[in-house]
Amino acid sequence: MITIITGKLNNLEYDVLALASAFYPGREIVFKETDKEAPLGEVIYLEKIIDETAPKNEQRRQFYRYLSEQTGRQLPWGVLTGVRPTKLTTAAIRGGMTPIQAADMMKKEYLVSAEKAVLAAEIAAREAELFAEEKETAGALPTLPRKSGLNLYIGIAFCPTTCLYCSFTSFSIEKWGHRVDDYLKALFREIDWTAKKFAGEKLNTLYIGGGTPTSLSAEQLERLLAKIRGSFDLSNIREFTVEAGRPDSIDREKMIILKKYGVDRISINPQTMNDKTLRLIGRNHSAAQVSEKFALARKAGFDNINMDIILGLPEETAEDVAETISQIQKLRPESLTVHALAVKRASRLKMESEGVPMPGPSADEAEKMMYIAAEGAASMGLRPYYMYRQKNMAGNLENVGYAAPGREGIYNIIIIEETQSIVALGAGTVSKRVFPDGHIDRCDCVKNIEQYIARVDEMIDRKKKLFE
Ligand code: SF4
Repeated sequence: MITIITGKLNNLEYDVLALASAFYPGREIVFKETDKEAPLGEVIYLEKIIDETAPKNEQRRQFYRYLSEQTGRQLPWGVLTGVRPTKLTTAAIRGGMTPIQAADMMKKEYLVSAEKAVLAAEIAAREAELFAEEKETAGALPTLPRKSGLNLYIGIAFCPTTCLYCSFTSFSIEKWGHRVDDYLKALFREIDWTAKKFAGEKLNTLYIGGGTPTSLSAEQLERLLAKIRGSFDLSNIREFTVEAGRPDSIDREKMIILKKYGVDRISINPQTMNDKTLRLIGRNHSAAQVSEKFALARKAGFDNINMDIILGLPEETAEDVAETISQIQKLRPESLTVHALAVKRASRLKMESEGVPMPGPSADEAEKMMYIAAEGAASMGLRPYYMYRQKNMAGNLENVGYAAPGREGIYNIIIIEETQSIVALGAGTVSKRVFPDGHIDRCDCVKNIEQYIARVDEMIDRKKKLFE
């Protein structure tokens, strides 16, 4: 246990806790204003480390330097503990800095490592190429307006089986298949409201995720896509993605249906190409099936396929990641999203109860894995274009999306940069309204599918309030 005595610095608790947890993973940390009652474990007196008159960011740096000295470690993202570090570099570049200056600012202001600072600046520069400020869009630029436009997300909360580390809203089709039609009915009510509310507005992007949308039968999938096409103006759409994440949910008929309705980007996610790990984490497919379904999608005409992999899966080493990458290199997807495993409490309990060893590469091993993945992406001509961080990530690293030029997942950037509104339909989804002054309001839909089906009108009312 570590006891932190805050003294007058009790307004810093959030930052102090985030940094101390990153330097001392797994240790319990408690706060006390004074040491009147005998403090437990190791004791840190904030007032001895932090100058109370210093600006807040300097206070963070002082605490970071102290922890770094104590542990002999550095954190790749320095004092930054938030989910979206690229928002800082994006603002800097849009404010007139060059990418090099933005990377320097990340190093000095936030003590970010040189490598991560360059990554964040590179991603921000790419974002600036893809999205133009409104005043710049007058010409025929191949860019999207940065702040205007509507994006639609549809969540299909079903998967063939539930992966052990899953932190999304997902119900196994085996157990819940009998509720899919009612789920679609509820979803169609949301679609009807949305289409009416935003009549006349053109969609920028449309993303059907989940869950695994291709868990639906071919007939259900077609019904959903026909409903969407009949409800929205898709004539200007920049990107229409469907997650076909699990190879065990893909067949020829479904691929042909997706193509027929104008889906132009799909995701087929191996997570790892190691069969032993696939079994261990409860995915019902082999690595060979991934390659087979990838070929099938290519044959159906998909020329923009993303693949997701996860670093830090149970018992995996950097060599396993290298093997996964070498198999993906043979397939040559247009984009590759590299996640560092973040194990949330619920999935952790599930893994423990099923006797699956807890994932947890050392910080060095995690960094090595990240490096192998980044090198692999570069060797396929893919460049980093978006990134975000989560709590409890393996090695305190980040998720990074790499893509071939022109094949960047636009929706992914929008969700991270938070410059455009997203209307999200389906269980467990979160809608976001971005106001012209930049402030953001959100509303969510319940996660449980029974609740969602029963309370869909309430979900619509939540959106009415948000968008009216
Ligand atoms: S495929 Fe994704 S959403 Fe489905 S269970 Fe696995 S991790 Fe969860």
